[in-house]
Amino acid sequence: MSLVSVDPKGVLVAGAGIGGLATALALARTGANVTVLERAAAFGEVGAGIQLGPNAVRCLSAWGLGHDLCAIAAQPQRLQVRDAHTHRPLGALRLGAHFQARYGQPYLTAHRADLHALLLDASQRAGVAVQTDIAIEKVASDAIEARAFCQKGGENRVEAAAQALIGCDGLWSAVRAQLLNDGPPSATGHLAYRALLPAADAANGVSPHEVTVWLGPQMHVVCYPVRAGGWLNLVAVVHGSAEAGASRRSWAQPADVCTLLTSLPGAHPVLQDLVGAASGWTRWTLHDRDPLTSPTACAQGRIALLGDAAHPMRPYLAQGAAMAIEDAAALAQAWGDTPGEVSLALKHYAASRWQRNARVQAKARRNGRIFHAQGVLRAARDLAMRWGGERVLDTPWLYGGG
Ligand SMILES: Cc1cc2nc3c(=O)[nH]c(=O)nc-3n(C[C@H](O)[C@H](O)[C@H](O)COP(=O)(O)OP(=O)(O)OC[C@H]3O[C@@H](n4cnc5c(N)ncnc54)[C@H](O)[C@@H]3O)c2cc1C
Repeated sequence: MSLVSVDPKGVLVAGAGIGGLATALALARTGANVTVLERAAAFGEVGAGIQLGPNAVRCLSAWGLGHDLCAIAAQPQRLQVRDAHTHRPLGALRLGAHFQARYGQPYLTAHRADLHALLLDASQRAGVAVQTDIAIEKVASDAIEARAFCQKGGENRVEAAAQALIGCDGLWSAVRAQLLNDGPPSATGHLAYRALLPAADAANGVSPHEVTVWLGPQMHVVCYPVRAGGWLNLVAVVHGSAEAGASRRSWAQPADVCTLLTSLPGAHPVLQDLVGAASGWTRWTLHDRDPLTSPTACAQGRIALLGDAAHPMRPYLAQGAAMAIEDAAALAQAWGDTPGEVSLALKHYAASRWQRNARVQAKARRNGRIFHAQGVLRAARDLAMRWGGERVLDTPWLYGGG
C-alpha cells in the first residue's frame, strides 16, 4: 500500500464533480490545503446543460467567478411554460433584468463542461491539487485524522490521510455507503433524454432566449440556451424504466430520437421538430433518495457528505448542483468559523444545510407530480398558472437564500 501525497493538515475531497470542485475552491479560499481524489482518469465532455438560479450564482460570484461565469453562460429573459400538445402558453416568469433586480443575481444557463472547467481552473489557481484515476473504496475517521483507502489506475492500492474528508462522490457515493449503509438510491421510474443543438437550428416558434418548458401527461421537455446563447440544451423526461440489460446505474446511454418521439405521444409539431432537429441524444435513468432526517447523518467525526452524495434529488427544480454549490459555501463558512475544530466545523455545516436540502428535495418531487399531471390535477395546474401568474412559478425562499 503506497501513500498519496497529501498535506496531513489539509482536507481530502472525494470526487471532482461540480460539488467537489466547488468545495475544494471554497475551502482553499479559507486557507485550507485541499486535495481532490477523482475516480475518472480524465474529465470528459459532459454533453448537457445546467440551470443556475440566483442562489447558486450568488455563491459563485462570492468566489470571484461572476465575470467569467457570465461570459460562458446565457441569461435567459423568461421562463415560458407551454402545453406540450397545443404549444399554448400556460404561464411565464420574467427572468433577465427582473430576476437580477429581485434577487441581486441573474438566472443563468450554462454548459456543464464550461462550468466544470471554470471551477477546475479556479480551484487549481487557488492551490487545490486534483489527482485523477483514484477511486475511493473505504474511509475511516478517528480523533486524529480521516483516511481514504483507494484504488489507483484500477490496480494499485493507495491510501491518503488528512484532517477531514468530504464525500462529494455523487449519487452512487462510496463514502455514503460506508457512513450510512443505507443501500443504493431508488429508481424514480423516469428517464431523462438529453441533447444539444445549435441555436440557429431551433424550430420556428421556439425562442432561443428563454427557458421553455412543455408540460404533458407523464412527460415534460425543457429547452434553454447555453454557451453564451450559441447552443440550446434539450432535456426530455418521460415515464419508463431502462430495458433489461441496460445499466442499473444512471450513466448516459446513447438514445434513439425515434424512441424518444414515441415516448412523447401527442407532442405538438413545434416540439416534435425541435426534438427531431437535435442529434446525439443520451438517456439517463433517474434516481433519488428520501431526504436525510437529521444532521448527524450528514457529518460523522471527520467525514461529511455533500452534494448528490448527501441529497440526490429529481431534476424538476433544477437545483441539485445549486444545492451542492450552496453546501460548499456553508462548509467553508463553518470551516473558517471554527479553526482547528474539525468535527465541530462539520457538525455546524450539516446543521446549517440538512433542512434546506430536504425542503428542496421535497419540492423537486412535488414539481415532478405537477409537471406530469393528468386529468383533474392537470386542469387545476393550468388554471393556477393562468390565475396565479408569476407567483406560481417564482420561489423566493429558494432563490433568495443560499
Ligand atoms: C437530467 C438532469 C438535469 C439536471 N439539471 C440541473 C440543473 O439544471 N441545475 C442544477 O443545479 N442541477 C441539475 N441537475 C442535478 C445535478 O446534475 C447534480 O445534482 C450535480 O451534478 C451533483 O454534483 P456532485 O458533484 O454532487 O455529483 P457528481 O456530479 O455525480 O460528481 C461526483 C464525482 O465523484 C466522482 N466519483 C464517484 N465515485 C468516486 C469514488 N469512489 N472515488 C473518487 N471519485 C468518485 C465521479 O466520477 C464524479 O466526478 C440535473 C440532473 C439531471 C439528472
